[in-house]
Amino acid sequence: MKYSIVNGERSEAQPSLSGHCQTCGSPTIAKCGKVKIWHWAHRGKRMCDPWWENETEWHRNWKNCFPDNWQERIHTAESGEKHIADIKTIKDWVIEFQHSHLNPEERRARNDFYEKLAWVVDGTRRKRDKPKFWESLKEMATVTNTQSPVRRILKVLWNDCALFREWSGCPAPVFFDFGKEDPMLWCLLPQNSDRETYVLEFLRAGFITFHRNEIIEKDFFSDLIKNFRTTVAKLSSFSQE
Ligand SMILES: [Zn+2]
Repeated sequence: MKYSIVNGERSEAQPSLSGHCQTCGSPTIAKCGKVKIWHWAHRGKRMCDPWWENETEWHRNWKNCFPDNWQERIHTAESGEKHIADIKTIKDWVIEFQHSHLNPEERRARNDFYEKLAWVVDGTRRKRDKPKFWESLKEMATVTNTQSPVRRILKVLWNDCALFREWSGCPAPVFFDFGKEDPMLWCLLPQNSDRETYVLEFLRAGFITFHRNEIIEKDFFSDLIKNFRTTVAKLSSFSQE
């Protein structure tokens, strides 16, 4: 965890600090070694949130694209079930950064738990994913509106790529990240009613600024995803005629 409670305040790990977990209240200890990024761990017991994934530099870099007070927010369901959201925006979007393999049951549970969820998936973990990803796509349309963070719409033609096999049934948008030198993210939209799958070429910087937009009356990210789902539904009926 990046944060623990120290003297009543959310604090980052520093050598020899101790604190308390913001989720369960158990004592925590700062781990400030040379190999892993500095973090907090529960003293003598396992992490209390079973959905928690050990943080990598990739996780930290992503979290740090957003304000401190949006990072590692506790989300409590009506049932009392609690989990730590990697990011929770002021528009109540939860962004989960996923590096390691996720079993389908846990993916489903997390999709159900968070009402407004977007996934960012590390596409660099397996070498073969990126070339397979490209082989699976066919360009459908270019977006000419320069205000839009979306550049192109592509259709997934077959599921030869593990990323699509794992994620294409997901009801939340999934952003594949193929490394920060790529200025684009690849947004897998939820499948349409014909079980077709589409991908948006999405500006990385646009993903961040759309979420960081603090004009409270308007949920730009929701509107954008909704609009593109409509566009894609049209494209798909078009291609069947
Ligand atoms: Zn805890």
